Amino acid sequence: MTSSRSVTGLVTDVITFSAVDGPGNRFVIFLQGCSFDCVACHNPYTITECIDCGECIASCPSGALGQDLTGAMVWDAEICAGGDECIAACPYDSTPKARPLAVAHVMERLRPAAPFLSGITVSGGEATLQPDFLRALFTTVRAEFPRLTCFVDSNGDADRATWERLGPVMDSAMIDLKCLDDRIHRRMTGVTNARVLESIAFLAARDQLFEVRLLLVPGVNDSDELLDATGRWLAQIDPRMRVKVIGFRGHGVRPSTLLLREPNAEQRAHYADVLRAVADFDLVVI
Ligand code: SF4
Ligand code: SF4
Repeated sequence: MTSSRSVTGLVTDVITFSAVDGPGNRFVIFLQGCSFDCVACHNPYTITECIDCGECIASCPSGALGQDLTGAMVWDAEICAGGDECIAACPYDSTPKARPLAVAHVMERLRPAAPFLSGITVSGGEATLQPDFLRALFTTVRAEFPRLTCFVDSNGDADRATWERLGPVMDSAMIDLKCLDDRIHRRMTGVTNARVLESIAFLAARDQLFEVRLLLVPGVNDSDELLDATGRWLAQIDPRMRVKVIGFRGHGVRPSTLLLREPNAEQRAHYADVLRAVADFDLVVI
């Protein structure tokens, strides 16, 4: 039987301490691969798995990239200077730095930080695309550090069977709702929002929904009418839901045919007013 500690995930990055990926101070694991292709994605290099084409090798100023005899990409972390030249050079929304990491390896990183943490969060890319890794990691963390909470940061595109598998080992999830209007959602992500809406309702009913995040882009998905409808849809699930409104920021985002602008302070305050008029949400605006 495979031990939970030997299960591997394709990991883009690990951050030991984060104050912005769930409640308290959290250890965050970013997984490679996503089911969406968002125009407003800040980490587009997490969307696809590396295809070992080798096109980024020449971009590395440190000579940290190459291929092995099978043609697989090799990244030497010891001599990597930590720049993003390879990510910028990749035409496939990937990174040569993503690596299969075993749960045991993640635990080695987690152990020294654990006394200072509130919990761990698995993000992405899309975390739920690697449910075996999530289950194994959360099971191991809970056994060794029962005090730490296990959260998933998700685009909400997982089906019910995936949430049912994760439910017994996961404390809670943070779900992005890019847009209630499916036509706009498809334009923003390339994918329908049907499963996102199902995920929000399903997790809330199980008391495993920590917050819903609304990424608002002026002129794209921030009309008063749409925001009011979104608030009403969320309120019929839970009128006291924690809702985090995130004003779009352009940093790291790819060029797009969609006009992407950042909301100003006045617009952000207005988003909060519209939602507060609908229900007594636990509202955070950033
Ligand atoms: S769901 Fe997240 S990681 Fe995936 S493409 Fe959208 S913003 Fe990027
Ligand atoms: S990271 Fe991108 S450019 Fe580099 S080998 Fe992988 S797919 Fe090719």
